[in-house]
Amino acid sequence: MKMAGFYDESISNGLGWRAVLFVSGCPHNCPGCQNKQAQDYNYGVEFNKQEIIDRICENSILKGITISGGEPLCKENISEVLEFIKDVKKVKPNFDVWCYSGYTLEQLEQRDDQITKETLKNIDVLVDGRFVQEKKNPTLKFKGSENQRILDVQKCIQQNKIVQVAI
Ligand code: SF4
Repeated sequence: MKMAGFYDESISNGLGWRAVLFVSGCPHNCPGCQNKQAQDYNYGVEFNKQEIIDRICENSILKGITISGGEPLCKENISEVLEFIKDVKKVKPNFDVWCYSGYTLEQLEQRDDQITKETLKNIDVLVDGRFVQEKKNPTLKFKGSENQRILDVQKCIQQNKIVQVAI
């Protein structure tokens, strides 16, 4: 997997100070995409999981990680993304995990494969859905367009309904 970018700390990609990984490659091709270069699976640099984990461990300000892109949950990226999340949790068990995806939670649940199920179990907050230019709203916090939702994934799974995070 290639990495389009990495922020050692940010408060713009989820609640609290977070490290943010932008993976490369995205199949959605949303009109108006702000990160078009990251749609290319070969864009950026090779993802070095251990180096990124070391950088996360050096930073005591962080409360979690956010994985964005690109598309973290496409079939090309999801396995490495899951391994990364699991390894971060080994060294930072109190971290929460946010993930941005162009897929909706319903689309991910419909896949019905083990790797997607396990990945969803390891994500606390999913900002879901493609960017829709007609629904763009720059005043929204942590998302780009009105259709996107900020979901409490574990409550969604346990209660079998959509539960959004109050921001
Ligand atoms: S899902 Fe995100 S990265 Fe992918 S095309 Fe849409 S806006 Fe761009």
